[in-house]
Amino acid sequence: MIIAIDGPAAAGKGTLAERIARHYSLPYLDTGLLYRAIGREMAERGLDPDDAAAAGAVAAALDPARLADPELRGHAAGELASRVAVHPPVRAALLDFQRRFAARPGGAVLDGRDIGTAIVPEADVKIYVTASPEVRARRRTDELARKGRQVEFPRILAEIRERDKRDSGRAVAPLRQAPDAALLDTTDKDIDTAFRAAVDIIEKARAEREKRASL
Ligand code: C5P
Repeated sequence: MIIAIDGPAAAGKGTLAERIARHYSLPYLDTGLLYRAIGREMAERGLDPDDAAAAGAVAAALDPARLADPELRGHAAGELASRVAVHPPVRAALLDFQRRFAARPGGAVLDGRDIGTAIVPEADVKIYVTASPEVRARRRTDELARKGRQVEFPRILAEIRERDKRDSGRAVAPLRQAPDAALLDTTDKDIDTAFRAAVDIIEKARAEREKRASL
């Protein structure tokens, strides 16, 4: 079973995807880490993240071992990621890796922005996880505060809005809800409620698939 989870920044899709993967004993790929690793490597090497050709070359040579770097989870890496993610050569270079991951025997869970629309349009289950920008900014601000970083809510909200605009407005593989994706709005849901709603969606899709297969 291939499960595709997409949605905007800080909607809770990472936490949800990880929990779903554990629940169904499936391997999990956080595809945001790929873009984060490229952004960070470019910054380390003094390369301009807005340079499409340079970003494409870094993407083509990306070492998956880099994805374990805890620094990638930080806020700055997320901002850099969204800048390198607009470049078509970057997206093209990452396509194969993601598709091979999705094609693992037994399936996989992938989360990102374009999993259900571009990476695995044939996924068995697609969930589009979202929440209001204010709630996402509040969660991000609280998460940073827990890590000891004092950040201002209005700044985080502005960055979230900016990131949404960039992710949805780019020419290649923009952030969109796939027509066949189930919508999961977590604005008024805690993680346990959101997880139960996601499992309901998956079980329903699975039952429908089995019904079709038996016809
Ligand atoms: O999900 P995460 O916040 O780690 O993603 C960081 C950035 O990477 C996103 O804002 C987006 O620009 C980019 N991204 C993407 N396609 C994906 C995953 C992430 O463009 N499948």
